[in-house]
Amino acid sequence: MVINMSELFTVDGTVKTYEVPLEMSEVIWKRKKYPIVSKQPVELRLTHEGDRKIAITAKVSLVLEMPCDRCLDSVKVPMDLDFERNVDANASAEERIAQLDEQSYIDGYHLDVDGMVLDEMMTDIPDKVLCREDCKGVCPKCGVNLNHQTCNCDRTELDPRMSIIREIFAKNNRTDS
Ligand SMILES: [Zn+2]
Ligand SMILES: [Zn+2]
Repeated sequence: MVINMSELFTVDGTVKTYEVPLEMSEVIWKRKKYPIVSKQPVELRLTHEGDRKIAITAKVSLVLEMPCDRCLDSVKVPMDLDFERNVDANASAEERIAQLDEQSYIDGYHLDVDGMVLDEMMTDIPDKVLCREDCKGVCPKCGVNLNHQTCNCDRTELDPRMSIIREIFAKNNRTDS
């Protein structure tokens, strides 16, 4: 949803609060799509600090669904964002580009709420999620999810960490003798 900030400009110190729905239903991050499986409306508070400079505080809760890094099961990742931004509505698009201003969610007097939330999310999305701390992952031989099933594969030869340790042992033994 887009908010027209010019309605705040008439008086310095004008404060407006908004509760706006988040329109996006998925997030694309590092070229992967993650669905937003639940979300609360965005709570916004805009203060006109004078001279068309706006201080924004925003709060939003949502839940992303991301695959577990080890077993690929879906993991619900709650995100509670609570952040502040300062916007200078005087700056033209050209000036923003020249100043490497990354506030691409501002267009003239218009604030793109989804864009701003997305911008904030980018700094908060975890790189990796696990369905649980001790996720056992999938069997590299037969592919079963080892959290839900067991298999009879012999996996000792396949653990790369083990083979590195074996190599180090072999090397040390050679130099020692
Ligand atoms: Zn897992
Ligand atoms: Zn297996």
